[in-house]
Parts: sequence; structure tokens; C-alpha cells
Amino acid sequence: MQIQYFGARGSLPTPGKTTIKYGGNTTCLSLVVKEHQFIVDGGSGLRLLGLDLMKKEFAQGKGQATFFWTHFHWDHLMGFPFFVPNFIPGNKFKHYGPAQTHDILVRQQEFITFPVEFAKMPSQHVFETLEPDQTVHIQDVQVSTCRMNHPAGGLTYKFTQGGKSVVFATDVEHLNEGIDPILLKHAQGAEVLIYDAQYTPEEYAKGRKGWGHSTWKNAVELAKAAGVKRLHLCHHDQMHSDSFLEKQVLAPAKKIFHKTCLAREGWQFEL
Ligand SMILES: [Zn+2]
Ligand SMILES: [Zn+2]
Repeated sequence: MQIQYFGARGSLPTPGKTTIKYGGNTTCLSLVVKEHQFIVDGGSGLRLLGLDLMKKEFAQGKGQATFFWTHFHWDHLMGFPFFVPNFIPGNKFKHYGPAQTHDILVRQQEFITFPVEFAKMPSQHVFETLEPDQTVHIQDVQVSTCRMNHPAGGLTYKFTQGGKSVVFATDVEHLNEGIDPILLKHAQGAEVLIYDAQYTPEEYAKGRKGWGHSTWKNAVELAKAAGVKRLHLCHHDQMHSDSFLEKQVLAPAKKIFHKTCLAREGWQFEL
């Protein structure tokens, strides 16, 4: 499984000189398994993935990809109208996500908010709703869902192939009591856990409870309890510069769980 981050920022795109290293684009993850393209979320980073795909069969209208949508906050959707393969006749897309995925994508592309309405795009789109605790098989990849603790809910995903798993768990907030037992079960034994670490514990304590995001401290606790091999801290806050992320997020996390990295736009790795 080839995995690449196209956006690791949370809440809002943040271009600028203080975010060059880890990137300013919002959530989008690419997974390629045996030539098949999987895409998790369509934040502003999806625009860049679309440009990459246009170097392949998607430019000739012969591309196929499968989307998995976590939830419908803008930072996870806003790249979709700018995904160039959508505008090439012949390209085919399957969308998995919570109920309303189709409706929300249509609403995002109503004429008042974007000049090309969803239905006017010449590519083909089919939709299938997923519930928590569901598993689907696509080629030889197993995709399992888990509910997420986030305003208006949503799904986290586990992709497993060849006995190795990557868990994509943003945007999630830990529970009052600490580790979320359902998420713990979902993440158990994963090779890579991608987890929401939007706030430092100090920031979280200052009025951010209930906002649907977690901290590096909760991330390392979950990673240790679930016995994952590697932890990627993701959904970086729009106020966190590259140096802040390294000093205030990565450094303390690594002291507790050594195999911790910061998700970085453009970073490609293999599972
Ligand atoms: Zn988000
Ligand atoms: Zn969200």
C-alpha cells in the first residue's frame, strides 16, 4: 500500500511561510493498492492529488477511484469542486461515506456557491452509505469503519491489506474518561495510526473541550494502549507554525512514544 498525504492541516487552509514544512492544505490522504486509487476526504489537498492523477489515465477519462468520506466539515470537502478529474468525461468514482454524502457534495456545488453544479460534471459518481462497525472489501483491501466522537459524528476508517493496517482517525476527540474503548479496539495492532492532535493539552484545557479534537497526549496514550507500531499526528491547528509543531507537539509526544511523526503534506510512505 502506497500512502501519501496531500493535506494534513485542520479546519482551514493555512498557506504562508510558517507552514511550508508540514503544509497548509486541509485533509486529503491517498492510498494506492495494486494500481487502484483510494482517497480519504477531499480537503483543499485534493486539488493537488487531482493534478497528479491528471498525469495518468484520468486525463484520458479512463480513471477510476474510490473515495471514503469521514464527515462533512468544510475542511474535508472544499477541494472536491477543484478536483480536475471530475471534469473529464469517462472517469468513474465510487463514494463511500456516512448517510448524506451525496446530498452534501451536491449542496457544496450548487450554482450559488460554485459555477459548475455537481450534476453537470461529466464524470460518473456512485454512492454507498456506510455505518459504524461495517466492513467492505475492495479488491484485496478490507476497509472497516468506526464511529467518531466529533460534532455531527462521522466515520474513521481502517484499511487492511496483506495483514497490515493503517487507521485514519481524525477528527476525533478523546472521551472524558480518557481512551475511547471503541476506537481502541478499532486501532488495535495497526501498523500506522493517524490521529487527531490538533491541540496541545494546555490549549485543550482552555475552552476547547467538546470541539471534536484531541491532543498529542491522548494520541500517544491511544497508540501505546492499542499497540500500534507508528503514530502520525495529524489535523494540525491553523495557529500552529512548523516550529511550534516540532517543539510543542512532536517533541513531547516522542518522549512518550518514540515512533511518532508529524503528518506532512507530500510525505509518501509504504505499508
Ligand atoms: Zn477537520
Ligand atoms: Zn471536523
